[in-house]
Amino acid sequence: MLVSKLPNVGTTIFTRMSQLALETGAINLSQGFPDFDGPQALREAVARHVMQGRNQYCPMTGLPALRQQVAAKIVRSYGVQRDADSEITITPGATEAIFCAVQAMIRPGDEAIVLDPCYDSYEPSVELAGGRCVHVPLALPDFAVDWQRLADAITPRTRLIFLNSPHNPSGALLTRVDLDRLAELIRGRDIHVISDEVYEHLIFDGQRHASVLAHEELYQRAFVVSSFGKTYHVTGWKTGYVVAPPALTAELRKIHQYVNFCGVTPLQFALADFMAACPEHVEELPAFYQAKRDLFCDLLADSNFTFSRAPGTYFQLADYSAIRPDLDDVAMAEWLTREHGVAAIPVSVFYQSAPKDMRLVRLCFAKREETLRQAAEKLCAV
Ligand code: PMP
Ligand code: GLN
Repeated sequence: MLVSKLPNVGTTIFTRMSQLALETGAINLSQGFPDFDGPQALREAVARHVMQGRNQYCPMTGLPALRQQVAAKIVRSYGVQRDADSEITITPGATEAIFCAVQAMIRPGDEAIVLDPCYDSYEPSVELAGGRCVHVPLALPDFAVDWQRLADAITPRTRLIFLNSPHNPSGALLTRVDLDRLAELIRGRDIHVISDEVYEHLIFDGQRHASVLAHEELYQRAFVVSSFGKTYHVTGWKTGYVVAPPALTAELRKIHQYVNFCGVTPLQFALADFMAACPEHVEELPAFYQAKRDLFCDLLADSNFTFSRAPGTYFQLADYSAIRPDLDDVAMAEWLTREHGVAAIPVSVFYQSAPKDMRLVRLCFAKREETLRQAAEKLCAV
């Protein structure tokens, strides 16, 4: 008889809601991806490299030129030097990086702490390594870390703590003070950190991203993960990277070389070219996405949804208590899609156990102005 290794896992909510949007013709604000293209020069570079024959395996660790561009970007963004050869690895998506980091750290019986609501790939990765996730809810309404609860959740079996800032689905940000507290909490213990920073450049209202890359003490036990998909509007390229101290990188690469061996070669050539030619792209992202967030929120101001503007990411949470308090969020997301033509993501699916009275859906605003206007019109009619 087949006994599943992941008995509680089904098809992800992102796949299900995007599928429902397709079937119903709804505007898809569910799964997080832009409805516009990445920079033209970047796309042209891929075509050029494909035509020039950059179509065979690249180095397992990633194309050297791209790793160097990532190192240069880290210096510009965070003022720290991370070594392109021994600390930076290019992966086929942040998801693969997270998976490999977990496999490198977790043994059967180990515990990993996740802060709920959390991204859906963390727990299956931990379970496949034979570990168990301990879920610590973030404190509402701001999705802040409850330090006492986190401290109470640490046991002698704790091996890993996941961070995610800017945070999917809430957009909440960790501060430097948060990182100091975490460093203090795990000092002297055999605990490592996976810091999921895929939305590192999507941060608004003049705030600065507090990266674990720039926190020397935490960095020494961390895997810091990012995604070119978010930063360059090309989620379908599934190309990301992970930065970790040399000893951790060496362990991660032992796994990465057998999960995938290497990322896609022409994409890495193109990204390296584009990053060299257009380093200002990342600096322009906050204003670019803040304008979208503000347009969308302004358009929703007279709706029956209530919200506070997302501090980061390209997701906006919206509370629908005043509309259909009778519906749980999964039913609400489906109802919105079918009856009102806008697909959304329910927030409870990011929890082990969501608060019973939570009435939140997540809306992706990485969309063209015209899409945001059409979606907002429909949402204002709800
Ligand atoms: N972490 C978070 C928080 C995400 O939202 C995503 C988006 N898919 C990922 C990781 C995965 O990124 P990638 O598509 O590069 O694998
Ligand atoms: N990260 C994307 C989101 O949160 C989804 C990616 C996926 O479909 N796996 O919407």
